[in-house]
Amino acid sequence: MRLNYSIEACASIFEATIIGSSSESITHIYFDSRKIQQANGALFFALSGHSRSGNEFIENAYQQGIRFFVIAKNASSKFHPDALYFQVEEPLTALQQLATHHRKQYTYPVVAITGSVGKTTFKEWIFHCISDKFKVVRSPKSFNSQIGVALSLLEMHENASIAFIEAGISKPGEMKILRDMIQPDFGIFTAFGKAHRENFADNEEHLLEKWTLFRECKLAFIPHTFADLENRLPGNFQVCESYENHHFPIGYSGMLGVLKTFLAYLQFESHQILERINSLPTLALRMEVFEGVNGNTIINDTYNLDFDALSEALIYQRQLAPTKKRIVVIGLSEKHAHERLEIEKLITSFNPDEFHFIPEGKSIPWENFHNAVVLVKAHRDRAFEHEVARGKALKHRTIVEINLSAIKHNVSFYQSRIPKEVKILAMVKASSYGSGADKVAPFLQQSGIRNFGVAFADEGVELRKAGIGISSSIVVMNPDPEHSDLIIEYRLEPAIYSFEQLDEFITALIHKQISAYPIHLKFDTGMHRLGFAPSDKERILAIINSQPEVKIQGIYSHLADADNPIHSEFTQKQLTSFESIVSYFRTNSSDSFLAHILNSEGSLRYPESCYDMIRLGISMYGYTENNQLKASLQGSVSWYSSISQIKAVPKGDFIGYGISYQAIEDMTIAIIPVGYADGFRRSLSNGKGSVFIHGIKCPVVGRVCMDMIMVDISSVDAKINDSVEIIGQNQPMEVFAKSMETIPYEVMTGLSKRMHRVYVEE
Ligand SMILES: *Cc1c(COP(=O)(O)O)cnc(C)c1O
Repeated sequence: MRLNYSIEACASIFEATIIGSSSESITHIYFDSRKIQQANGALFFALSGHSRSGNEFIENAYQQGIRFFVIAKNASSKFHPDALYFQVEEPLTALQQLATHHRKQYTYPVVAITGSVGKTTFKEWIFHCISDKFKVVRSPKSFNSQIGVALSLLEMHENASIAFIEAGISKPGEMKILRDMIQPDFGIFTAFGKAHRENFADNEEHLLEKWTLFRECKLAFIPHTFADLENRLPGNFQVCESYENHHFPIGYSGMLGVLKTFLAYLQFESHQILERINSLPTLALRMEVFEGVNGNTIINDTYNLDFDALSEALIYQRQLAPTKKRIVVIGLSEKHAHERLEIEKLITSFNPDEFHFIPEGKSIPWENFHNAVVLVKAHRDRAFEHEVARGKALKHRTIVEINLSAIKHNVSFYQSRIPKEVKILAMVKASSYGSGADKVAPFLQQSGIRNFGVAFADEGVELRKAGIGISSSIVVMNPDPEHSDLIIEYRLEPAIYSFEQLDEFITALIHKQISAYPIHLKFDTGMHRLGFAPSDKERILAIINSQPEVKIQGIYSHLADADNPIHSEFTQKQLTSFESIVSYFRTNSSDSFLAHILNSEGSLRYPESCYDMIRLGISMYGYTENNQLKASLQGSVSWYSSISQIKAVPKGDFIGYGISYQAIEDMTIAIIPVGYADGFRRSLSNGKGSVFIHGIKCPVVGRVCMDMIMVDISSVDAKINDSVEIIGQNQPMEVFAKSMETIPYEVMTGLSKRMHRVYVEE
């Protein structure tokens, strides 16, 4: 503020009586004694607010060096002999008179901005767009009230070439006062929402009141949504076509349209207009949107909690989630506790599904929010950033995407190929071959699968905890003897492969006085891994027949090379051996059990040996060695990352550890945050492995690091954050596995746990 008014001039503007004398002039004003910084030349307006009388602060201001005061006639102030007092009817009116007088000193255009939301945003936008061509005066912050407008006008100075003044009202009659002060040449109407309407009879009254501002304007710019005003209200309008710009939410198209039209009016060329609008800081919206925990979307707008910004945020929230649940979270600071009711009213008018005031010292209950759009607003001094950060989904840039629909398709495909009565046991060991058993197994259960296989007891416990109920059987293929208690507690079914283990398990059951506990007998028919020998069958049966603690729930074996037709003779021998075991128990045991020997590959090659159940593993996830089968299965795992950084590497420079790669030409490389710790093996260094960016193959250059790789993107037009495919359309699982000289099983189970798993269902 750079004023220069003599005492006499002020007295005449205020129509005041002066007490005291001075030859100094007034250069700036204050009305809040807490904000006094420069007392020299300052005029203090003793405004009376809702809860305080200005007089209380006069003394305080005097102590801080203020010597000029505007006070109410009836004020019972003590008059200091070295101070000067303007006595007026109403100090606020005096302030507005000064503003009115000041505004009249300038002939450059004054643009008034009103609307129930978006005023501050629009003012910042216009400043961004024109400040290189115009010397702009604009309202500080969101100063748009009776006092704020006066202060804004007092900012006008002779070096400016245009002024933008925000005007906001909350009661009928206020806008006329604002208009008389502003005397706008042009008007901008941003939008009309629900904010600040409680004191008005209806929309029409509120609109008419706002309109008062534009009555005497040369031209008012209004969004297309108010086109019908043209016939209803007096004045000169320019109805502005809406303008959609992909940087902004669709709800901003009205305001953007006004901006575009106004810039054209200011004689900006259309290419300049586009360029400027495209470079608008979306940060001006202050709202940050990101993915939260539990499928929430979070709108973070914890910078301030003024009403304008709040209603803007509420509108934005509604646009972002027309169908999703809306939750509003407010961090009110103690200092503003009195605003609570008003804030509540505003929020309620938007009908959110829930809203929460978070008291000081309490946390946002993120755990209770699911699949909602959560708007968080708070006063700055609540320092809510940390609270909001807790709700943010922690995300590694590199993700493993699991397509559940593909898994379902593959299961259905198998069901259509095997006899109707044959069951499917889903192998979900090693966390569902790396795809996340806690998500995949419940999905399979939903699709009707009732038999699951895991390797170890703790994997079985994880399944039960993830919601695989007692009506589903979970077979633990390699149980440790010391896990018997855990197995029993969680009702898991152990595969028994030796006499010691059988003895141990029966002992555990005796201690717990449990009988007829289901167990599975595992036979080694030629692979020579875990399992009883076929010749053990009589002795096993004798033990089981004499021990009521256990019953045979299943008998199984495993094929050593089901994939390979050239070893079908060997496989046939295994099948024959299994058949003699099964028929022995069928004849001699009273337990009715499920027999099974076939895995994914075996099920289609030897369908006559399905017995009661097949154990589906790799093919369920969509992978097979069988070329004819490939077309019928759908791969379920994709692996993506994104570019962290792009670099130009001059010819002759080296890349990575061990300076093992030298650029033969000038090249461009991208750094991708995936490394051998994630399962992208070190053997893929220096061209052995590749990724795909925009569908183009980009070979690894230099050595694979623990958490990063560098790839050659010289032939790709790529930007930072662009998506990188490691496994997907362009580089299928089988191809990637080959590049690491391994099989899909190992690739899948080697995908590190630290990578986020994302589940998609089409
Ligand atoms: C892993 C496993 C399977 C599944 O094999 P796939 O080749 O993945 O179908 C079947 N049975 C046993 C005993 C297993 O350990």
